[in-house]
Amino acid sequence: MKAILKEKPIPGAVLREMDIPRPGPKEVLIRVKAGAICGSDVHIFDWDQWAQKVVPGLPHILGHEFAGEVVEAGKEVHHLKPGDHVAGETHIPCDNCYFCLTGQRHICMAMKVYGVHSQGIFSEYTTVPEPCAVKIPGEIPFVAAAMMEPCGVAVHGLSKGVISGKTLAIFGCGPIGLFGVQAAIAYGAAKVYAIDLSENRLKMAKSFGAYQTFAAGKDPVEKAILDETRGIGVDMVLEVSGSQMAYDQGLRILRKAGTFVIIGVAPKPIQLEIPTNIMYKEAKIFGITGREMYETWYQVSDLIQSGKVNLEKVVSHQLPPEKFEKGFKVAKEAQHGKVAFIFG
Ligand SMILES: [Zn+2]
Ligand SMILES: [Zn+2]
Repeated sequence: MKAILKEKPIPGAVLREMDIPRPGPKEVLIRVKAGAICGSDVHIFDWDQWAQKVVPGLPHILGHEFAGEVVEAGKEVHHLKPGDHVAGETHIPCDNCYFCLTGQRHICMAMKVYGVHSQGIFSEYTTVPEPCAVKIPGEIPFVAAAMMEPCGVAVHGLSKGVISGKTLAIFGCGPIGLFGVQAAIAYGAAKVYAIDLSENRLKMAKSFGAYQTFAAGKDPVEKAILDETRGIGVDMVLEVSGSQMAYDQGLRILRKAGTFVIIGVAPKPIQLEIPTNIMYKEAKIFGITGREMYETWYQVSDLIQSGKVNLEKVVSHQLPPEKFEKGFKVAKEAQHGKVAFIFG
C-alpha cells in the first residue's frame, strides 16, 4: 500500500510502498478512502519541537482525520463488520481512569492521540482500535466523513452555550472556524461575525452565511461589532485563532455573562485583562478538546444528514497522495479551506 511517511527526523515526508498492516484482536482493518490534513500533521511534517517530543518513533505515517470502509475485524471486535463505513475518532481513551469511568472519555487522563502517538492514516489501509472507528451512515460521502472529526471540535464548542437567536463572533476561519460558521447558522444563530487574516477564508465564511466578515488587524472589529450589537456585545465568542489580538478583541466584544469558547491552540502564553474583561463581566470561559464520545458524533451526523452543514464545501483541495507536497504547502499557507487526500 502507498503511505505518506515521515521517514527521517528532518522536515518533509515521502510516499512509500508499505505492507498492509494486520489488525490486532480489538482492531479493525480499514480501506482508507479520504484523509484530511490537520494542523498537527503540519507540525509533524515540519518536524518542529513539539513533533520531536510527541512522536514515539520513525518511520511514522502522517494523518489522523479520515474515513473509509472496514475490510476486516479482529476477533474481539463486536460492533463493526466488513463493509461498514467509518470515520476516525482521534481520541484513544484508556477506559479505566476516573474520567473514562464517569462518562468523560474525551478528557481521559491517559489519552493517546491517534496518528500522533500511533501510526497515522495517510495510507491506503490502516488499523484502528474499535472505539476509534465510528460507524457512519452510508450516504455520507467519504470526503465529508473524513472531516466529521474536526467539524466535531466546532460543534462541541458550540454546545457550551445557547446558539438559537443569539449573536456569535468567530475568530479564525480555518476549517474549524468555517465548520463553526456553518453549524452556528444551522443551530439558528441570529448573526455570525467572522474574523480572519485571509480574504479568501472570509469569502468562504460569507458564502456559508456569516452576517459580516472582518479582516483581522485591518478592519475596526471591536467598534463595528459593538455598534452592531447596541453596545452590548455578542453572546458567544469562538476563539479558533490562538492569537493574542483575538483574545483582546474577543473578550472586549463579549457581552456581560457571555460565553467565550477556546478552541484555537495558542503557540505562546496569552495575557488577559481579567478584572474588566472577565471578572466584572461574569464571563463564562470554556476550553475545548476534541469531541465528546460520542454525543458530538451524533450531532455532526445529524447536521450533515439534514443538509444544514456541508463539509465538502470546506474542502478547497482534493488531491491524490502523490501530490502530498502540494497539499502540505497549501495547508501551511492558511489561505484556503481543507486539504483532503483521496486514496481511492
Ligand atoms: Zn485533527
Ligand atoms: Zn481514561
